[in-house]
Amino acid sequence: MMLTVTRSFVGGRSMELHDTRRKKYIKKRDTGYNSDTGKFHCPNCNNGYGRRDTMLGHFRYECGKAPRYKCPYCNLCSKKTSNVYQHVRCMHPKERVSLVRLY
Ligand SMILES: [Zn+2]
Ligand SMILES: [Zn+2]
Repeated sequence: MMLTVTRSFVGGRSMELHDTRRKKYIKKRDTGYNSDTGKFHCPNCNNGYGRRDTMLGHFRYECGKAPRYKCPYCNLCSKKTSNVYQHVRCMHPKERVSLVRLY
């Protein structure tokens, strides 16, 4: 009996929440602002940012962009230098630890 009560309560509540969020998101979609989180969300990846400028900067220069750094010894690419360094140490232990800047 307890299980039934809990289940119906959770089900109804989550559906209601989902509905409200969806409506708000569509309404404010042009700015990316989400009043539920109080943040501006990237239209591409939905990352939240406290300021609209920050979100737009991410959206224009970071989001969906190709990785900037490449392993000099194989085709591995990454957006972070630390990832490439770690990869070279792990996969090419005999080579010098370095990376290639793509742009
Ligand atoms: Zn993004
Ligand atoms: Zn490599």
